[in-house]
Amino acid sequence: MNTSLRPAVPVETDPLVARLLDAAVAVIRQNAEMLGDLDRAIGDGDHGVNMLRGFSAIEEARESIAALPLASALQAMGKLLVMSGGGASGPLYGSLLLAMGRAAVRDGGSASLREMLAEGVAAVKKRGRSERGEKTMLDVLVPVQLAWEQAFREGLALPEAIARLERAAEEGLESTRPLMASKGRASFLRERSIGHLDPGACSSSLLVHAACDAFIGTKP
Ligand code: ADP
Ligand code: MG
Repeated sequence: MNTSLRPAVPVETDPLVARLLDAAVAVIRQNAEMLGDLDRAIGDGDHGVNMLRGFSAIEEARESIAALPLASALQAMGKLLVMSGGGASGPLYGSLLLAMGRAAVRDGGSASLREMLAEGVAAVKKRGRSERGEKTMLDVLVPVQLAWEQAFREGLALPEAIARLERAAEEGLESTRPLMASKGRASFLRERSIGHLDPGACSSSLLVHAACDAFIGTKP
């Protein structure tokens, strides 16, 4: 390989890992204020700051993470989110990535994205003692996981499958608006949580879009 063509990128960098990491960090940075605003309406206003703290820690470790294979990179990012991302969301997103990474290394690395998503979402449910329909990040993560399953069953080509994921994320986010929160800080507001988007569902939707962009390589 002629590395002189790419002087800024270490030779061993996995381009997919680097793209996923960069896209996730960028989308959280660009939307941190809006995530804070959503959380101010039905929580304590720190969701943007919590996400930014976690993803800034990931950004600081970019060089070492991007040198890892996907499974280990997901686990490294998950650990950083558990350690550095605050609030309820840091450990929940951390659990998601740790479980996805663990699934990815199992069976000699032959686990599919389908299994990774299923195990990641199951880990969030377990850690949060929560299910879809409670006005949380799961209202995006569960439909996205189901959309991927369905796309797989239908044998869709990647661009169509990705489009399904993006639509599931958008619809999942919007589905939180009429719900009354029964988990997390928003549940303290009871009926007054109705009519607002859930901040964690919004960050999940943003991250799904970022991951889809990185996956299909439409953005560097
Ligand atoms: P905190 O609620 O501790 O201030 P954040 O504001 O960072 O933490 O995150 C709030 C988001 O975390 C919520 O919008 C919701 O999506 C998610 N969340 C909170 N509790 C749970 C739970 N038990 N299960 C799943 N997601 C949850
Ligand atoms: Mg909060």
